[in-house]
Amino acid sequence: MELDFVRWLTRQPAADPRVAVGIGDDAAVLQIPANRQLVVTTDMLIEGSHFELEHHTAEQIGRKALAVNLSDLAAMAAEPLAAVVSLSLPRSQANSALARGLSSGMTMLAQQFDCPVVGGDTNVAAGPLAVSVTVMGTVESDQGWLRSGAQVGDRLLVTGKLGGSLRGHHLDFTPRVAEALQLARDYQVHAALDLSDGLALDLSRMITASGVGAVVDVPRVPISPAAEQMAHESGKTPTSHALSDGEDFELLLVVAPDEAEKLLAAQPLACGLTDVGEIIAEQQMLQRDALGETAPLAAEGFEHR
Ligand SMILES: [Mg+2]
Repeated sequence: MELDFVRWLTRQPAADPRVAVGIGDDAAVLQIPANRQLVVTTDMLIEGSHFELEHHTAEQIGRKALAVNLSDLAAMAAEPLAAVVSLSLPRSQANSALARGLSSGMTMLAQQFDCPVVGGDTNVAAGPLAVSVTVMGTVESDQGWLRSGAQVGDRLLVTGKLGGSLRGHHLDFTPRVAEALQLARDYQVHAALDLSDGLALDLSRMITASGVGAVVDVPRVPISPAAEQMAHESGKTPTSHALSDGEDFELLLVVAPDEAEKLLAAQPLACGLTDVGEIIAEQQMLQRDALGETAPLAAEGFEHR
């Protein structure tokens, strides 16, 4: 079964020039283009903490395990190169249906994002299902987006719409890789991150990294229909869902004011791009209402267990 899982994962439609040595040797060998840097990110999903096998299909879990990593590559403006996957299957469910489901969810996304799986390892243990994915990408040397590049006066832009991800978006979101590569090619981005833990909490991390502050124009924050729906039941406002729900996997981008103007006029992304605030010198996070009144914005969001 172990061999089968790896074989399913590493099935590739055609020879890939980036993979000098794929599965079958002790390690994979990848070709990195000249003048590019390797970008590496990893994420582990564990049953009981990140998902439940009763509520989520193996395909959904496999897809998400790769998607969250691709979202981190997008946040760096890196182009996917390859992925490796490690599984710990629970002894009680160590059947090929589970492994096959995980693998098919993953390979569909891997093909869509041209990110071949070049290796894997499978173990069977008494514990819960754990899926660990490591994704490698490349970026033109020293051109990767960092969290630390925000400058006073810059605008804050977000892709897509925010909040209510638990309603399903967290399982079927499209990592913003293509959008990031397009923006990196055509525009100057000072800083970026992907929104995994909520706009307020992730923004606090960015301004800390950059040594600046920020004001969020709350009425401008794009609210997803799912956040509107959730607000009917949660007693919270749609806006508070949009500010602090986790797993949006949209991009938060920081750009100079004239670049923001160009971007907002051109609207180059199908998912949309919204100006939600600005970078300020005082190292604090504020929210501004429709009347222009400001109040502190708490760095609250989705804390991973
Ligand atoms: Mg991230």
